[in-house]
Amino acid sequence: MKKVAVLSFAVAALVIAGAPAYAGCDSCKLAQTEDGWCDGCKVGFFDDVAIKSKKLFDAVAGKKVDPQAMKCPSCVKAAKQDSACDQCGVAFAGGKAYKSKVAQTLALGKAAQPDKLACSMCQKNSKDQGWCDNCKVGLVGNRAFKNKQAYTRAAAARKVLLAAAKTAETCPNCAVAMVSDGTCSACKVSFKDGKKVSDKSKDDK
Ligand SMILES: [Zn+2]
Ligand SMILES: [Zn+2]
Ligand SMILES: [Zn+2]
Ligand SMILES: [Zn+2]
Repeated sequence: MKKVAVLSFAVAALVIAGAPAYAGCDSCKLAQTEDGWCDGCKVGFFDDVAIKSKKLFDAVAGKKVDPQAMKCPSCVKAAKQDSACDQCGVAFAGGKAYKSKVAQTLALGKAAQPDKLACSMCQKNSKDQGWCDNCKVGLVGNRAFKNKQAYTRAAAARKVLLAAAKTAETCPNCAVAMVSDGTCSACKVSFKDGKKVSDKSKDDK
């Protein structure tokens, strides 16, 4: 009997060792549900993607906006429709402004609580991404999309975000450029839809 207890303790310790450092942190748990940053662990979350670079996190984080305080008429319209203002380079979703189109595309989804999903297929999808034909809903991280087109766009956006979170470990500027179709002046590369675009190849296309 004693042996069993020791063994299960060893297994539990092994599981904990394999989990990320923030797994037991309450402030991280909260950050995971509301796309926040945990100061203690120096990690942020967006659509359940862990982001260790504050620079990248700030680039994807949304800012609450007050439509009445907006000066740009095109922004006011875009905020109402959850679309983008091309003049100002911001996109809106759910009352927040995003500089990153990748972030806005994901933010258009409805917050889903993966552990409360009744359908096992949807539960599986929420671990990464996937469409459930039974429920007619696509899950992308902890966001749900009822429109298949919006789901497909969000699924692609999350892939870019995952790649950017990885890239941030080597160059945070490149990571920011990846999520906002920008340029990293240090590495002299530009990105479009998360992919590198070299200026020379532009003429070939
Ligand atoms: Zn934490
Ligand atoms: Zn504007
Ligand atoms: Zn389902
Ligand atoms: Zn770079």
